[in-house]
Amino acid sequence: MNHAAIRSQFPLLNCLQEEDYPLCYLDNAATAQKPAMVLQAMDAFYRQQNANVHRGSYQLSAAATAAVEASRDKLQRFINAEQRQEVIFTHGTTESLNMLAYGLEPQLQAGDLILVDSAAHHANIVPWQQLALRTGAQVVPIPLDEELRLDDAACKLLLAKRPKIVALSHVSNVLGTVNNITALCQRIRAAGAISVVDGAQAVAHLPVDVQALGCDFYAFSGHKMYGPTGVGILWGKLAQLEQLTPMLTGGEMIKTVSFSGSTFGALPHRLEAGTPPIAEIIGLAAAVDFLTQFVDANSRQHEQRLLQQLRDGLLAMPAVELYAAHADNLGAIAFNIRGEHHHDVGALLDQQGIAIRCGHHCAMPLMSLMALNGCCRASLGIYNNEQDVARFLAALQQTIALLTEEI
Ligand code: PMP
Repeated sequence: MNHAAIRSQFPLLNCLQEEDYPLCYLDNAATAQKPAMVLQAMDAFYRQQNANVHRGSYQLSAAATAAVEASRDKLQRFINAEQRQEVIFTHGTTESLNMLAYGLEPQLQAGDLILVDSAAHHANIVPWQQLALRTGAQVVPIPLDEELRLDDAACKLLLAKRPKIVALSHVSNVLGTVNNITALCQRIRAAGAISVVDGAQAVAHLPVDVQALGCDFYAFSGHKMYGPTGVGILWGKLAQLEQLTPMLTGGEMIKTVSFSGSTFGALPHRLEAGTPPIAEIIGLAAAVDFLTQFVDANSRQHEQRLLQQLRDGLLAMPAVELYAAHADNLGAIAFNIRGEHHHDVGALLDQQGIAIRCGHHCAMPLMSLMALNGCCRASLGIYNNEQDVARFLAALQQTIALLTEEI
């Protein structure tokens, strides 16, 4: 399938904006646009199949239940999980990571160490801090080296202190830098710690095989991989998931309930209390179908070429300061215009129909390591093309001229 045919599947990209130019959407790290097949799957569920799951003794409910469980099977294959019960539906990465930080609490004691990637998103920092507050454990950031990658030597030293949990990002949402999760998890395992990987920025950009990665837990969101908002995954090794205390309790997750006490059901439902986001789970399965059908080595190479085009274009602008723009990064590039505020840059680009993100990107510790109060980030999706990148670069030149113009 050619690239134009992939792009044409995204209705929003074909809408005109007020100024009559098509949207140049370069904020895919925040959320990706949705292909028609995702929208249709959700629409069809509500029109033809809407019922609650696991409760009904009638056909419509059985069909909704079957659709959710078929989605679980699809997600299992997508990340190569060993068993279907290892795939837990959540509302997104944030909830997945909070469920972990809550669920692991009984395994922690005062004084235990929790190592956290310094480039982590707040969703992979704050829940660990809260866990540390409750247990007396200590959160220790894993430093970055001069290239803003995880510092290998520092990591070794910290692992020698035998931490209990190590929380990493797979791909940084700000810089697009990629951690070598397989190698890191080998070492984490050897140190006797539990590895938690935030894959929110990885799943749309590289094939994820949780068994090959060798981590204990992996979390991601549907909306960054062309699926709907409000749904995500917590994957964990079965033995690890079985030890988690459920953060949410109530309907769907119990075996028996009486006023003298309740018992919990088996995985995966034990960690899925309440009505799940049924339409979103079905939409997420459609996003997996989309990725499976249309995203391959060629389209990934296309995305990498665009990132290279972005990097080269930005490098050619003396007013631009680029951050950690390594050749093996994925999906995103971070920069500032020297002496100018990132929000001014974003606002002027917006006036030219270009959507990028400016701010701290939910990574304040990384910003303070970089001695910045924020930056601009352009991030790519499968539908972006050379014209998008060229339009962005031209608009940025124009923005620089406007901002640096002598008045
Ligand atoms: N981790 C990373 C690396 C992210 O980029 C994001 C989303 N910006 C999250 C976690 C949180 O994801 P969500 O808001 O979908 O829960």
